[in-house]
Amino acid sequence: MKQAEGKVLMGKLERRGKHPLKSSLVTGTVTAVWLMLQTTLATPPSMAQGSPRESSGLTYSALVQKIQAGEVARVEIDPVRGVAEVRLKNQPKDSAPQEVVLFGDSNPELIDAARKNNVDLEVQPSTDGGTVAWLITHGLLAFVLLMVLLMFLRRTTNSSGQAMSFGKSKARFQMEAKTGVLFDDVAGIEEAKEELQEVVTFLKKPERFTAVGAKIPKGVLLVGPPGTGKTLLAKAIAGEAGVPFFSISGSEFVEMFVGVGASRVRDLFKKAKENAPCIIFIDEIDAVGRQRGTGIGGGNDEREQTLNQLLTEMDGFEGNAGIIIIAATNRPDVLDSALLRPGRFDRQVQVDLPSYKGRLGILEVHARNKKLDASVSLETIARRTPGFSGAELANMLNEAAILTARRRKEAVTPLEIDDAIDRVTTGMTLTPLLDSKKKRLIAYHEVGHALLMTLLKNSDPLNKVTIIPRSGGIGGFAQQSFNEEMIDSGLYTRSWLLDRITIALGGRAAEEEVFGDAEITVGASNDIQVVANLAREMVTRYGMSDLGPFALESGNSEVFLGRDWMSRVEYSEEVATQIDQQVRTIAVRCYAESRRIIRENRELMDQLVDMLLEQETIEGEQFRQIVGQHTTLPEKQLMAAKVS
Ligand code: ADP
Ligand code: MG
Ligand code: ZN
Repeated sequence: MKQAEGKVLMGKLERRGKHPLKSSLVTGTVTAVWLMLQTTLATPPSMAQGSPRESSGLTYSALVQKIQAGEVARVEIDPVRGVAEVRLKNQPKDSAPQEVVLFGDSNPELIDAARKNNVDLEVQPSTDGGTVAWLITHGLLAFVLLMVLLMFLRRTTNSSGQAMSFGKSKARFQMEAKTGVLFDDVAGIEEAKEELQEVVTFLKKPERFTAVGAKIPKGVLLVGPPGTGKTLLAKAIAGEAGVPFFSISGSEFVEMFVGVGASRVRDLFKKAKENAPCIIFIDEIDAVGRQRGTGIGGGNDEREQTLNQLLTEMDGFEGNAGIIIIAATNRPDVLDSALLRPGRFDRQVQVDLPSYKGRLGILEVHARNKKLDASVSLETIARRTPGFSGAELANMLNEAAILTARRRKEAVTPLEIDDAIDRVTTGMTLTPLLDSKKKRLIAYHEVGHALLMTLLKNSDPLNKVTIIPRSGGIGGFAQQSFNEEMIDSGLYTRSWLLDRITIALGGRAAEEEVFGDAEITVGASNDIQVVANLAREMVTRYGMSDLGPFALESGNSEVFLGRDWMSRVEYSEEVATQIDQQVRTIAVRCYAESRRIIRENRELMDQLVDMLLEQETIEGEQFRQIVGQHTTLPEKQLMAAKVS
C-alpha cells in the first residue's frame, strides 16, 4: 500500500512540467558545472604552467658566482619544484625574484657559497604543504559541486521527471482505486455494466473459465456517443474490481518526439505485468488508435509507432496473463482494424444513449443529492428528454438546482426543471422583444411550425411554442414532444420524415404567406439546413426515393482525412445529378404542402399569432384546443390531447 501511494504521488508529480524546455536547461547547467570542475581539477599549483615568477636567464653556476660576488640578497630553495628563487641586491623591491633550476636534492656549492657570503638562505618545507592544501580545498570544492549537481539532478527527476524519464508511462496507478464511483452510480447502461462486471470475474477467478477451456478476453472496447458514461463506467470498475487499476488517456501517449509514446506503452505494460492481475484503462483510445497510413501528406510517425507498440504489447509473446485492457472511444470508425480484431479487443461493448428506462435510472442517480419538490416527477422528465445523454441529464438537473438556488426556493420544482431543459436544449432565456415588426415575424414563423406540428398526420404533438428569445440568436421556437419509441428505436418512417421536412419549412411558408416573397428572412436558415440534410439522407442513405432502395453513401458522413478523401464518391456524375434532383423534388413538394396548409388556415394562424404575441408562450394543450375549434385534428393529435 505504501509503495503504491508513493507511485501515485510520483505519477502526479511527473505530470507537471514541459520537458523539452526543461531538459535543455538541465543539460546546459550540467555542462557548465562540469567545465568548472574540469578547470579546477586540472591545475594544481606545482604543475601550473606559465608560473607568475619571472624565469631568469640565470644558470646554476652563474648564481654561485653572483653569490660569491656578493650581488645576491636572498636565496629561497623550493625542493618540490627543484628551483631556487633568487633576489638580487640591485633588483627593484617590487619585482619578482628570479628562478634558477637546481641540480638535485642537495646543492652543496650553493649552500656553501651562500653561507660564506652571508646570503639569506631559506629552504621551504619539503612536505609539499602547498599541494596538500590545494588538494584539500579544491577537493572539497569539487565534492560540494558534485553534491550540488547530484541534488539538482535528483530534484529534476523527482519534480518534473522529464529529464530522466522521457518514456515513462504517465498512467495513474491505483492499487485499490478510490475514484468514489460505484456501480450504483452508473445507471441506464445495464448491458455494458454486466459485461464489465464479468470482466472483473475473469480476473478474480480465472480458473472457472480456463477449466472449461475458455480463453480469457484480452480487451474490452467501450463504444458510444460522448456523455453516455464510458469513463464513468471505467471509474466504477476501478472502484469495485478490487484489483490494481491503471488509467491513462490516449492523448497522453502522443508526444512531440518520435518513440516516446511507444516507450510509454512499453513501460505501462511492464508495470502492469508486475502487478497482474490488473486492469489497464485507456480512455479516448482513438487518439492513438487511428487507422495507420492516413492523413494527407504522410502518416504520423510517432502515432504509428505508438500504435504498433500497443498492438505488439497486446499480443504479448509471453501472454499478458491476468491483464485486461479496457478502452473507450466515441469514434470506433476511425480505429485501426488491427486493433479491433479478435485477440486484441475481443469484445466491443456498445454504450448507447439511454432509453426511457435508462434516463429514469440516471435521473434517479443524480437526483439523490438534490432537493426535489414532491411535485417533480422523474418519469415525466424522462419522457420529455429522448435523445439526452447521461451527461446532458446530469447537467440539466444541476442547472435546475442552480436556478432553484438563484430563485431562493427550498426545493426544485417542475418550473425549474422545465427552464433547465429549455436552457440545455436551446440556450438561456433572454428578455422578450418589445413589440415590433420583428417580433410579429418571429411569431408567424413559429406559429407556422406549430400549426404544421398540430395538423400533420404523422407529426409528434406540439409541446409548446414560444417567442421568448434565447441566447445563441434564437428568437423563439416550437417544440415537439417526440414519440420516444421511435426516437429510441431509430425506426423513422418515410411519412414521418416527410412530415418533419414539411414542419421545418412551415416557418418560411408562414413568413412568405403573410409578408410576401420579398420579406422572407434569413431566420429560416437553420430550418433549410435541416431540410437539406434530411432530404439528402432519405435519398442517399435510406433508399426512400425513386432512385431505388440502395445506399449511395456510407453512414459516416464526415470525411476522414486520407481514407475517405479519394473514395468518397461512389457514384457517377449522372447519378449525382439524379440525387440532386430527387432531393429537390422532396423539398419542393414538402414546401408546397406546407404553403397549402398555412394558406387554408390563415385566419386561425392570425388568431394564434395574436395570442402568442400577448402571452409569449402557448402550451401544446392550449394550442391544440384552439386549433380543434376550427378544424378536426388528426388522430395522433387527438390521442395526445387525451393523454396530456
Ligand atoms: P463519456 O462516455 O463521454 O466518457 P462520461 O462517463 O465522462 O461520458 O460521463 C460524464 C458524466 O455524465 C458523468 O460523470 C456522469 O455524471 C454523467 N453520466 C453519464 N452517463 C451516466 C450514466 N449512465 N449514469 C449516471 N451518470 C451518467
Ligand atoms: Mg469519456
Ligand atoms: Zn424555424
